[in-house]
Amino acid sequence: MISNNPKIVILSCFIFVLLPLISFNTLQGKFTRNQLIGKGNPDIIGDSYTSKMHKNAKNAFLKMKKEAAKEGINIEVVSAYRSFQRQKEIFERKYKRYTKQGLSPEQAINKIIEYSTIPGTSRHHWGTDIDIIDANATRPKNVLVAENFYDDGPYCKLKEWLDLHSEEYGFYEVYTNNPNRKGFKYEPWHFSYAPVSKPMLQEYKTLDLKTILKEEKVLGNEYFSEEFISKYLKENILDINPKLL
Ligand SMILES: [Zn+2]
Repeated sequence: MISNNPKIVILSCFIFVLLPLISFNTLQGKFTRNQLIGKGNPDIIGDSYTSKMHKNAKNAFLKMKKEAAKEGINIEVVSAYRSFQRQKEIFERKYKRYTKQGLSPEQAINKIIEYSTIPGTSRHHWGTDIDIIDANATRPKNVLVAENFYDDGPYCKLKEWLDLHSEEYGFYEVYTNNPNRKGFKYEPWHFSYAPVSKPMLQEYKTLDLKTILKEEKVLGNEYFSEEFISKYLKENILDINPKLL
């Protein structure tokens, strides 16, 4: 109904102009330090390692999964939300193994960060990022290997479908196959729900990573030099698909 009252007309125009800004701003600035580093998040739903996700990401994922199923693809999540504690266990297990094999602490850390993150810096802490495969395909021994997603690989059909459709559901590949990209190696299985992860990354960038990595006790963290942390931030955290920045 169109009002003849000029005050109401002005007010409703005002609301229409402001609404998109308000909904964007509700996400900006609402994440706490602990939420951003994987220490609790009230928006996470689900009860297992493969089902815990940010509620908005989960809704979008279920829509995407339903659509892919029509093409005979059964999208299965092998990793979703991961807490700080879980990432710490992964990191420390690798750190112990590599240093036992004779690598120096610095060499061990550099080897770990080819694929794994330092606790407190994983995008999986946000509940927006998922590692996915096709449960309808014959399962290889190691699922998260890039070759599986190409040529005759078991997940090439999934990959082709995701390349065409994932962005329609808000999911973007994070660690792309761009040869000029630094940081983490190519991960054709890792997708991020941009409507939530983009504002989270913006907020994450305002954290003082050097202090956090000093405060949070993780095996080997005394070897994270300032230079190392700056490089890690620039290459591993920020050198990703530009559509997610
Ligand atoms: Zn991942």
